[in-house]
Parts: sequence; C-alpha cells; structure tokens
Amino acid sequence: MKRKRAEEEELCPCGGGQSCIVDRRKLGDWVHEDDLFKEAGLPIRKNCLTPLTKKQQKILDDMVNSGFESIEYRWKNDTY
Ligand SMILES: [Zn+2]
Repeated sequence: MKRKRAEEEELCPCGGGQSCIVDRRKLGDWVHEDDLFKEAGLPIRKNCLTPLTKKQQKILDDMVNSGFESIEYRWKNDTY
C-alpha cells in the first residue's frame, strides 16, 4: 500500500511515539530540544533520526551534565 506523500513526510523514521519530536510538534506538545536549540540560535532537527550537529550535541550534553540523566524520559515528566 502506498501512502500519500504528505503523510509520508510527516512520519518520523523513529516510528513515532510520546517522545518523538515530530509527533510532539504535530500535537502541539512542548519539545525541550527545540526550545534549547531556538534559544541558542540553532536550527531544530527535522526528526528524531536527524544527526545532531556538534553545537546541538553540546547543548544537550550540557543539559545532561547539569542534572538530566535521561533527557527523553525526563522530558515527559518535567512540567517546567
Ligand atoms: Zn521520531
């Protein structure tokens, strides 16, 4: 079966889910890394499997080092 092109583009290669950045954006949910990247003036990732640039990786690393053990799991629980 063939999907429509528009749907295909919206589907994240990770398969989607609660911590999927594409799914979360689609639902209007808060995406922590988007916030961090925008704040730092960096582009946001297209989907979960988009490789992080060095700058993006550093921002996430800094966040982990400042107390986040597992970014993705903490995102779901943190209400900020
Ligand atoms: Zn995803």
